[in-house]
Amino acid sequence: MKFHSTRSKTPTLTFSDAINEGLAPDGGLYVPEHLPTVDVSGCCDAKLSFARLAEKVLAPFLNDDPLESKLGEICSQAFDFPVPLANNTSWPFPVLELFHGPTAAFKDVGARFLAQSLARILETKNTEATILVATSGDTGGAVASAFFERPRVQVKVLFPKGAVSPLQKHQLTCWGKNISSFEVEGDFDDCQRIVKEAFSDPVLKKKHHLTSANSISIGRLLPQITYYAYASLQFYEHNGKPASIAIPSGNIGNSVAALLAKRMGFPIDQIAFCTNANRAVRNYFETGNYQGFPTIKTMANAMDVGNPSNMERIFWLYPSLSALKRDTVVSQATDAEITKTIEQAAREFKTIWCPHTAAAGHFLLNNIPLSEWKNWILVATAHPAKFADSVQPILNGVPAAPQIPIPSQLTQIAKRPSHYENVSARLEDFVRQAFDRH
Ligand SMILES: *Cc1c(COP(=O)(O)O)cnc(C)c1O
Repeated sequence: MKFHSTRSKTPTLTFSDAINEGLAPDGGLYVPEHLPTVDVSGCCDAKLSFARLAEKVLAPFLNDDPLESKLGEICSQAFDFPVPLANNTSWPFPVLELFHGPTAAFKDVGARFLAQSLARILETKNTEATILVATSGDTGGAVASAFFERPRVQVKVLFPKGAVSPLQKHQLTCWGKNISSFEVEGDFDDCQRIVKEAFSDPVLKKKHHLTSANSISIGRLLPQITYYAYASLQFYEHNGKPASIAIPSGNIGNSVAALLAKRMGFPIDQIAFCTNANRAVRNYFETGNYQGFPTIKTMANAMDVGNPSNMERIFWLYPSLSALKRDTVVSQATDAEITKTIEQAAREFKTIWCPHTAAAGHFLLNNIPLSEWKNWILVATAHPAKFADSVQPILNGVPAAPQIPIPSQLTQIAKRPSHYENVSARLEDFVRQAFDRH
């Protein structure tokens, strides 16, 4: 299987090389030259473990790649935590819980697969790499955790000042060794711009072997297909019909992965892009013209993206808006609606949703008729304990609300000391601080 840029069909390269490159030289994002299709009944058994199913789902993408023979061990080591399609009689719909990894958010899945893959690529090539990662909150922690103490890799994390939760900030800054963290005087789009500018500087890129770990990296995107394959097969086995899936969305990598799973033939019906007050996707659905907007800060901060990079992959998958609208819907939730949803979930369903999950919960509870709730899966992208500072005050107003459980991986992280530097939102300042001084 070969990969090419969303902006041109040539040149083509392997999965390993596409991972190494990060962003394509023409500024586009890497995509596979075609989508493998699965014969769901023959290929994949809903009883396979997640790691083994992931291996089957990803195998065609690594066909003829130097990593092909390593895929089994990569999946075993990356996917060593559960991704349950959880259900409970007091809940209105099953919940795909993607928060059981080391940093308690779904980005662990992609980051860990990328780390395992890149480690092997660098070893084979006997070379080193520097990963630049812009984060709106969760990516940086997942990437830092996945690459911490891995030989041959330096990680530089850029996060926006004042826009991440205290626990997220700690997860971004508690590593040291091969991980360094930078608090940028700007928003997430500034962080992402600095990373893009660094990549489009060929001298800088070559000198530091820069590579990307943002959701633009194909090495993070493809593994995210696997949990949609896994959940949709379980749903199908249980209900005898394809699942519709409500996905908390920001840079929309997670939704693109679900669309890829659908297009590969997994039993998926509708996909809902559930966004917060940031309205680029909604505006595209309403006007047919895509444009980015300045980022709006919300309580679902990992979705605070004014100009989602992965729209390029949407246009590649769906050249026309009318085709996109056949497979997807878009919704928005304001902070007030997110708050109300967290309250309702605690009161009526005795469960706690993080603000991102609640944005998708809002869509299901308010836009889908009660009689159709059973057709849907709600995707829970982070554990609520990561956002206890905003969730706990809401629960305080709910009589007999459940307690927020603290997962053990978060307790471990909280014990580590934190280190970071402040930096302006200019590439040259970042380069001076991150490279020249070290
Ligand atoms: C990153 C993130 C999102 C948004 O995912 P995208 O792939 O950027 O759309 C949603 N929820 C949480 C908790 C996240 O960390």
